[in-house]
Amino acid sequence: MTTERPDRLVERLSTIAQTTDDPAICAGHGEDWTRRFAGPVRAVVRPRTTEEVSGVLTACAAERVPVIPQGGNTGLVGGSVPGPHDAPTVVLSTVALTGMGEVDTAGRSVTVAAGTTLAELHRHAEAAGFVYGVDLAARDTATVGGTVATNAGGIRVCAYGMTRAQVMGLECVLADGTVSSRLVGLPKDNTGYDIGALMTGSEGTLGVITAVRVRLHPPPPDTMVMIAGVESLAAGLALVGSAVPAGAVLLGAEVVDAESLDLVCEYAGLAHPLQRRWPYAVLVEASELDPPDGIDAVAGADAADRRRLWRYREAASEAASAQGVVHKIDISAPLHRLDRLADGIRDLAPADAHVSIFGHLADGNLHVEIAGLPPDDEQHDRAVLDLVTALGGAVSAEHGVGRAKAAWLGLSRSPADVAVMTRIKTALDPGWILNPGAVLRRG
Ligand SMILES: Cc1cc2nc3c(=O)[nH]c(=O)nc-3n(C[C@H](O)[C@H](O)[C@H](O)COP(=O)(O)OP(=O)(O)OC[C@H]3O[C@@H](n4cnc5c(N)ncnc54)[C@H](O)[C@@H]3O)c2cc1C
Repeated sequence: MTTERPDRLVERLSTIAQTTDDPAICAGHGEDWTRRFAGPVRAVVRPRTTEEVSGVLTACAAERVPVIPQGGNTGLVGGSVPGPHDAPTVVLSTVALTGMGEVDTAGRSVTVAAGTTLAELHRHAEAAGFVYGVDLAARDTATVGGTVATNAGGIRVCAYGMTRAQVMGLECVLADGTVSSRLVGLPKDNTGYDIGALMTGSEGTLGVITAVRVRLHPPPPDTMVMIAGVESLAAGLALVGSAVPAGAVLLGAEVVDAESLDLVCEYAGLAHPLQRRWPYAVLVEASELDPPDGIDAVAGADAADRRRLWRYREAASEAASAQGVVHKIDISAPLHRLDRLADGIRDLAPADAHVSIFGHLADGNLHVEIAGLPPDDEQHDRAVLDLVTALGGAVSAEHGVGRAKAAWLGLSRSPADVAVMTRIKTALDPGWILNPGAVLRRG
């Protein structure tokens, strides 16, 4: 009879924060939302305070054990879980790092603990008469820390910018346990390097974000939502330009292609919204809408109608995933080349694959979903990213690099840029214990 020896690191971590090495819990935290990326997890640690985060990182650094920060685990690029061949990794889950400060109404900002969900932050801001500018379909699960770590985009970028534009201050813990905190949220603060900006978009490779001071905005005027059929992405962009009068506030301009819309209607049990099946359906939300005559469109002005129409766009990712493990590729391109990109992607797809495309039209950001490919087939993703690069786009628009695109960072960034990033990584995390394998490959 063999008795398993206790894992001394797990015992040590248990004295610092709530820790488990239960195999079922570890497996759940070791697989991401796409089910395409998974790896071995040694323990899941759920600190409740910044001090506990510091203690966990100090203990793991001493043993040179890799740590992956994880928020809601809704990331779509394999950044929140270990790779399949990685050494068993400690997942530092932020779900117990919750809480929000009082809204500073004069300074239009609030401090939020990293594990707070986006939906909780929205409710807190709204109760004080403000809105938070980042929103996305995974709002009930995605955390503020995760959205800052990925510099998330979402459905309000055309109105408020990406997450980086909302960050006024940040607290984080470095790999050696050092706590760096600047949460004062001054409108003007030019005192040296902006550590919050550096941490934003660092995908858990430079530090664990424990709290963020975020910018809030006055609520927009009442809005209308319209879904309209168009022949092309260029026609969709032209429609957004002509349907939103000068001076009106544009809150969102999104697109789903015919395949995505079919999948959404089937998945969510919705009726097709338009009179016929167009190549693309464009969703526009604005404070005023004055669409040209004769278009095939539906519109809604009350809250229930707006929610109902948004469902056609927001269910697109889940509807694609209902086909099985799909390849989700997030890319951007100059607006005038979006049709060439989308058409080229469909041409590249093998005959037995099923391609659907949707995304944030105003931002030139397409989400490509390919069903029917083996999960570990990277050749096809690479072909899509080569096309993006040839058209002057970016291999990641808003989801980040994670593990899925770490090998292809050099398609969008120069060798000098990658070398600078590597030097920053090595300076802040000399042992490369924080999320190793995500974003950068160690030389
Ligand atoms: C249905 C659906 C719709 C989505 N729509 C959008 C969209 O419109 N726009 C968009 O940008 N994304 C979108 N996403 C992707 C995802 O929601 C975002 O990437 C989100 O920012 C991830 O937050 P999270 O808390 O789930 O982070 P996780 O998935 O847990 O982690 C993501 C990355 O951040 C790191 N990380 C997490 N928390 C911390 C922390 N506290 N400190 C340091 N690093 C940390 C992780 O290590 C990992 O690299 C969508 C996902 C789904 C499932």
